[in-house]
Amino acid sequence: EGGGDMAAGGADDREGWCGPAAGGLALLGLVPGAPSCPHGPALLFVKTSQGKEEGRRFYACSACRDRKDCNFFQWEDEKVSETRLAAREEYNRSHQPFFTHRQNAERYKNFVLLPLSKRRFCQECQQLLLPAEWEKHSDHQFVCDISTAQLKSPSRILYPLENKKTNAQYLFADRSCQFLLDLIIDLGFRRVLSVGTPRLHEIIQSKASQEEDFRVRSLLLDIDFRYSQFYAEDEFCHYNMFNHYFFGGEAARETCRKFLYQDNGERVIMVTDPPFGGLVEALASSFKKLMAMWKETEEGGHNSQEMPTFWIFPYFFESRILEFFPSFSMMDYQVDYDNHALYKHGKTGRRQSPVRIFTNLTPSTIVLPVEEGYRFCTICQRYVSSGNQHCEICNSCTSKDGRQWKHCVLCKKCVKPSWFHCNNCNCCALQNHTCEKTDAGCFVCGKAGHKRSTCPSLSHA
Ligand code: SAH
Ligand code: ZN
Ligand code: ZN
Ligand code: ZN
Ligand code: ZN
Repeated sequence: EGGGDMAAGGADDREGWCGPAAGGLALLGLVPGAPSCPHGPALLFVKTSQGKEEGRRFYACSACRDRKDCNFFQWEDEKVSETRLAAREEYNRSHQPFFTHRQNAERYKNFVLLPLSKRRFCQECQQLLLPAEWEKHSDHQFVCDISTAQLKSPSRILYPLENKKTNAQYLFADRSCQFLLDLIIDLGFRRVLSVGTPRLHEIIQSKASQEEDFRVRSLLLDIDFRYSQFYAEDEFCHYNMFNHYFFGGEAARETCRKFLYQDNGERVIMVTDPPFGGLVEALASSFKKLMAMWKETEEGGHNSQEMPTFWIFPYFFESRILEFFPSFSMMDYQVDYDNHALYKHGKTGRRQSPVRIFTNLTPSTIVLPVEEGYRFCTICQRYVSSGNQHCEICNSCTSKDGRQWKHCVLCKKCVKPSWFHCNNCNCCALQNHTCEKTDAGCFVCGKAGHKRSTCPSLSHA
């Protein structure tokens, strides 16, 4: 890419990248004819201040919030010369992975034929090595004796990507992963479209290869191309969930369509656990496209319902998700992660996870484990956290974070236990809050009076 794009500036402030409510950048979305970066079509943004659109619109990378990872930038009205267009195409081509998925699948076949002593994985290049390549990686760290069991659990060989802004990978704790799988089986699903859930995908594929009567299958869609080393082309598609882009083109899209079309589209569920950095509208728009793909199947076509979906996301995004999917409801189940200190299970005195399951399935069918303290509320017709008391006035189990909430008669709703009614602000807030009105609400909870960096819903007791 020519220096022009890099020098253009304007997209430095990606902090407020998350929605029109915050002063910062608002997403206008995926528009026809958008220019592309190595991550597919760029998204259109506009600078905002106090909730109003202001200034020029520009395109930026859909997948990377950090300019260090992808510095694509173009003003909407910018004239791009033929030379620069050609250079950009060349740049995009040269920034694709070194091996294609086909080549990786071929390499895998050769790899599994090797005796254990010759199976190496280069930790620096995050790559399975064939003996002829050892030389080139001789001063890299590597893991030896890669067993078949290890090959079936790539999420345990690959290190989790940790770039906070672009792609932080938070892997399910075994307990949560097993819970999801059991739930999927109990609900009678046979196929799982795993969108950004490599660990769920891997326990499904691993069981499928080991247990004869295990009937569930999964297709993984993920932007992390390292997974293509471990899965065949009908098990993994390199996919960007912020712009619904299949890196493998029409063939990969067809793989996804075929997967959804099996058994006329019956008994398929989409499970997704996207990065939490925002862009809910971009995610929602991609999920709607995947749902539309399913709709074209016999089952989908005859059916007025949406493709069954679990969208795993923090509870403070509830209103944002419901904006795009009014049919969804939030389950109380706390999803736990292995490599996230904050998002581990409460009971043992550790912090409670704020991550929940949003689903368009009937809440009463989502059975939560009683041994972990969840109970069924017969009035709400859903399982709730042990601390979530049914409020007689709201006529609902109102807690979002698992703690017992209290009803405020002035606000006419239940609020967090740590909040008090403030007559100045005319709403409930933390006792030591500063009574100040800002026009633009907080991006996270939508409430006025604070920005997202100080949002009370982000701090958990
Ligand atoms: N809890 C899940 C992992 C969630 S982490 C599990 O254990 O299976 C988020 C996942 O989304 C990662 O696998 C990451 O590679 C993927 N991801 C991040 N950005 C993406 C994008 N733009 N498109 C598709 N997948 C993406
Ligand atoms: Zn990009
Ligand atoms: Zn209730
Ligand atoms: Zn109440
Ligand atoms: Zn109040």
